[in-house]
Amino acid sequence: MTDKTISSAVIIGAGIFGVSTGVQLARRGIRVTILNDGPAANGASGRSLSWLNSARMRSEPYHRLRMAGIDRYRTLFAQYHDTDWLRFDGGLTWDAGDAGNEIAAAYRHEVSLAYDAQHLAAGSVAGVTPGLDARAITPQGGIFNPGEGWVDLPVLIDLLLQEFSALGGVLVTDQGAARVIIESGRAIGAQTASGDRFEADAVVVATGPAVPKMVAESGKSIGDDTPIALLVQTKPVAHPLRAVLNTPRVAVRPAPGGTFSLDADWAADEGVTLRPDGRYEIDDTVVEALLVEASKVMEGNPKLEIASIGVGGKPIPGDGEPVVGALKAIPGYYVVFSHSGATLGLIVGELLAYEIVTGGEHPMLKTFRPERFG
Ligand SMILES: Cc1cc2nc3c(=O)[nH]c(=O)nc-3n(C[C@H](O)[C@H](O)[C@H](O)COP(=O)(O)OP(=O)(O)OC[C@H]3O[C@@H](n4cnc5c(N)ncnc54)[C@H](O)[C@@H]3O)c2cc1C
Repeated sequence: MTDKTISSAVIIGAGIFGVSTGVQLARRGIRVTILNDGPAANGASGRSLSWLNSARMRSEPYHRLRMAGIDRYRTLFAQYHDTDWLRFDGGLTWDAGDAGNEIAAAYRHEVSLAYDAQHLAAGSVAGVTPGLDARAITPQGGIFNPGEGWVDLPVLIDLLLQEFSALGGVLVTDQGAARVIIESGRAIGAQTASGDRFEADAVVVATGPAVPKMVAESGKSIGDDTPIALLVQTKPVAHPLRAVLNTPRVAVRPAPGGTFSLDADWAADEGVTLRPDGRYEIDDTVVEALLVEASKVMEGNPKLEIASIGVGGKPIPGDGEPVVGALKAIPGYYVVFSHSGATLGLIVGELLAYEIVTGGEHPMLKTFRPERFG
């Protein structure tokens, strides 16, 4: 039970952060409206690798937040343990076999945090997780993290939205870009492109890659390092791979229906061009090369075929750390903008809703305040 300081909220953005926050607010008895430009989950959440992890090195508060994020998925998994959209079959990673290989250091770091990790030579991998072509693993070996997993965000968002509407929440989709209404220095609601106004005590901007631009329209600044990202979805292929693979040339993640999701930074850099009319042009040869890289790390080197390709911004704040909470200079205005939004989706929605409802500050979000960008 929490003391409420508000009774209504409007959220712009129906990606994982907006919807997770919306459900959490609705559970606390707040009247919530979520506005989305197109259908729900049509942004980064609809084309995410969604590997649930806190692997490698990062700040201690960020690691703790990610671990709490994984904890919330574990609770969900206990409820839906037999699904094909949320799995905890581990993650396996290795680096290129050159001087930049950081596997040994990453392993030591993970062990120091008690992050479940096994440093394996190529020959030992088959004993812990199936479906790899061990010849692809470099001589420094790989790290297997048994506690990692993945989620299909569109399915999760749909599930959360069902609860949201059962609690009386209102979802308004396909109304074009909404904007925050600020009057007398205070955020008082949001207005859709078609002119509909939704007034509320709190306004949450959860528009993924669009957050820094929207905040800038209110004269505030959030550091932005958002790149263009590419996610390729394969057609179903019968294959034993279960872990999420993060390898030097490709990330491969099992997905519902026996499909796989693939991404790589180089493929987005080389294969996607933003045209002057705002549309993306995709180089088919680069996508084919990504499929070949994925096949090389999979046992039996299966022929992979494209089912769909998702392109667009991958939200990444300027300093790499999440941006969550009140925009203090504008009362009533809250933001959420982060990479790793799959891992963080449930916990950040929960903590942000706590802050909105109580007017307080949660200690887990202390270092992630928007004000740090000045
Ligand atoms: C290729 C790729 C790989 C990734 N890999 C991982 C991973 O392995 N692990 C992990 O944890 N995370 C990963 N992420 C990050 C994660 O997917 C994102 O952090 C998360 O999906 C962001 O969710 P969001 O709700 O902030 O944004 P979005 O999902 O983009 O949602 C924002 C919504 O707001 C809408 N919108 C925008 N502007 C407006 C407006 N003005 N009015 C109304 N609606 C608007 C958009 O259409 C969209 O539906 C990856 C992302 C990508 C793209």
